[in-house]
Amino acid sequence: MSDAIGAMRARDEIIQRLGHIIALLDWDLHTYIPPGGMDERSHQNALMEGLLHERIVDPVWDELFAGVGYGEGKVPAGLSEIDAAFLREAHRRWSRQTRVSKDLVEKIAREQALSQAAWMEARKTDDFSRFRPHLETMVALKRDYATAIDPGRDSYDVLLDEFEPWATGAQIDEVFSGLEKGLKDLLRRIVAAGPPVTDFLEKPFAVDKQDAFGRRIQEYMGYDFENGRLDISAHPFTTTLGPRDVRVTTRYDERNVLSGLFGNIHEAGHGLYEQGIGKELRGTLLADGTSMGIHESQSRFWENVVGRSYAFWEHWYEDFRARFLEQLSDVPLEDFHKAVNRVKPSLIRVEADEVTYGLHVIARFRLERALISGDLAVADLPAAWNDAYRSLLGVEPPSDADGCLQDVHWSAGLFGYFPTYALGNLYAAQFVISMEEDMGPLDDMLRKGHPAPILGWLREKIHRHGRVYSAGDLCVRVTGSPLDPGHFLAYLESKFGAIYGF
Ligand code: ZN
Repeated sequence: MSDAIGAMRARDEIIQRLGHIIALLDWDLHTYIPPGGMDERSHQNALMEGLLHERIVDPVWDELFAGVGYGEGKVPAGLSEIDAAFLREAHRRWSRQTRVSKDLVEKIAREQALSQAAWMEARKTDDFSRFRPHLETMVALKRDYATAIDPGRDSYDVLLDEFEPWATGAQIDEVFSGLEKGLKDLLRRIVAAGPPVTDFLEKPFAVDKQDAFGRRIQEYMGYDFENGRLDISAHPFTTTLGPRDVRVTTRYDERNVLSGLFGNIHEAGHGLYEQGIGKELRGTLLADGTSMGIHESQSRFWENVVGRSYAFWEHWYEDFRARFLEQLSDVPLEDFHKAVNRVKPSLIRVEADEVTYGLHVIARFRLERALISGDLAVADLPAAWNDAYRSLLGVEPPSDADGCLQDVHWSAGLFGYFPTYALGNLYAAQFVISMEEDMGPLDDMLRKGHPAPILGWLREKIHRHGRVYSAGDLCVRVTGSPLDPGHFLAYLESKFGAIYGF
């Protein structure tokens, strides 16, 4: 059996390398490519994707799985934990990709290009009717896609599997119901307490100084520039180009100093996860975040729990203020910290704060689940969206451009992606409880400016395991219980109670 697993590992190594080459082409596409290079790049990308796909669906995998007696509920006995995880993930990848016909894959790819172009136009002109036929086609295609993979399962769950493997819509729905109630109650009290002063943040902050401070914080977090780098792109992202090459990007806006800084911290949080994958997993399909929710737990832990905490700024504010005396010389730490944590119900998800963010996600999760199940017709989406915003956030979208047309995801067919954003916050809060049980208060470490034990704990408990454990199993292993939104709500209650004085 070890021969057969060895043969699979050798094949997987090539698949991983091809994936990293595609990631490099993609990284360049979003950072340094000159406009003239775009056209050839799209051909290069299509060629590489084709080569990768051939390797993944190669019929030899069928023989190899049969050779070790794996498949249709059968798992060979006596496997190591890592080999068992390797087989589970290799089989999942192979079966998902072989069940979808080439014809359907091509149809979806074509429709993605058309649908995204129509979405951009519809958003620009605030005209949902231009996007509507494309979204109808995309919903139908993604249903076909889910049915092809597993006709016996709920379609939304099959789609969710791509982002949050082994989770179900029903589980998430239950978690989100508890979250909704707690967030709405907290938000009501925050709004009643009145807004903090934030005008000093609206002044211009020089971009080169933002970059210098952002890099300093990434180093402090432990992001390894010997095995990574930071560049600029329109939308920040993290990408792995090889076992020792994990890159992050950010963007800076002179008029929004927090967006650049928290982008730096967020992406470095993702980068630390990928840089911390165990040596024995590197270069294999297990060398990845186990789910997008867990990946987001890492980025959001550093961004929100660390980067927006009072203890973090107790250590860093003097340094930050010295770089921006013109803007901050008369702003005390307390006021700065309050401004960094301003909570305000708004229309736009990407600008949302820690408290309202989850409500934006809950709206999208419910709507996309209803679109896929057929309970909600695409034609009724704008009205359903506005109802959801009224009920969850108490705001009224004045237009579809600031309503159901604001995100790119659905035009790209990415159904099942949204919930992972909120799950990240929930997982992070639950992990912190265990971290503090093991090491004492997080704030003590942050106040001293010593985050090394924090990173050490994350490496040991989460990063090094890559995809060996599913998100649900990892959560139980690390914290002793399944995901419970109560921990996140308790964290928010204590933090925002102190800031807003209730
Ligand atoms: Zn992220």
